[in-house]
Amino acid sequence: MIYSGSMLLVVAPSGAGKSSLVNALLKNDPTLQLSISCTTRAPRPGEENGREYNFLTREEFIARRDEGDFLEWAEVHGNFYGTSRSWLEGQMTHGKDVILDIDWQGARHIQRLIPQAICIFILPPSLKTLEDRLRKRGQDDEQTIQKRVAAAHEELTHLAEANYLVINDLFEAALFELRQIVSASRLRTIQQLARHTDLTKDLSGTDLGGA
Ligand code: 5GP
Repeated sequence: MIYSGSMLLVVAPSGAGKSSLVNALLKNDPTLQLSISCTTRAPRPGEENGREYNFLTREEFIARRDEGDFLEWAEVHGNFYGTSRSWLEGQMTHGKDVILDIDWQGARHIQRLIPQAICIFILPPSLKTLEDRLRKRGQDDEQTIQKRVAAAHEELTHLAEANYLVINDLFEAALFELRQIVSASRLRTIQQLARHTDLTKDLSGTDLGGA
């Protein structure tokens, strides 16, 4: 099935500034909907159930996973994370543009299921900046930070799988680049054909496809 909405998968190692960029993108673009994942990780200070994540116990997560509730799920840093199948399919069927803050395993899985999904990898300008940002946000203990730095190395070996790379050195510049990718995604032929079936049929005299 071809969807008229965009699906943007944003991948980055922790500390690359992904959440801040995604939040800024959402603030200025009310047509973009953020997928709220389920996780077994404990809420960080300031996080609310249903806003950043749906926080579940391990047992609850496993039960929902076994019922087929997740389009994809992955274990990241020792916790489970999963994308709600019903929410995502509902949004896409209604032509909404959706954004998923996800890890590379989830992005790979979703691109196999939904090939029109676009994967954007956010990179820090250096490894040192990544470590500094993790320390500065003060959300994790030193052991967790070291785990996340090691995971970043592994994650970054997958960056060639992305469709776009954005280097988050200057925040505003990275945000501008992300906005350009969102705009371009909306103009892709595959989506325009799905969105403007009557127009393209009138103009070409033939049904060019789309959903
Ligand atoms: P954090 O615990 O820092 O919020 O997220 C850790 C990692 O899990 C991030 O890379 C984030 O993008 C990823 N993540 C969040 N939700 C999902 C999800 O639903 N599926 C997958 N595969 N990864 C997710």
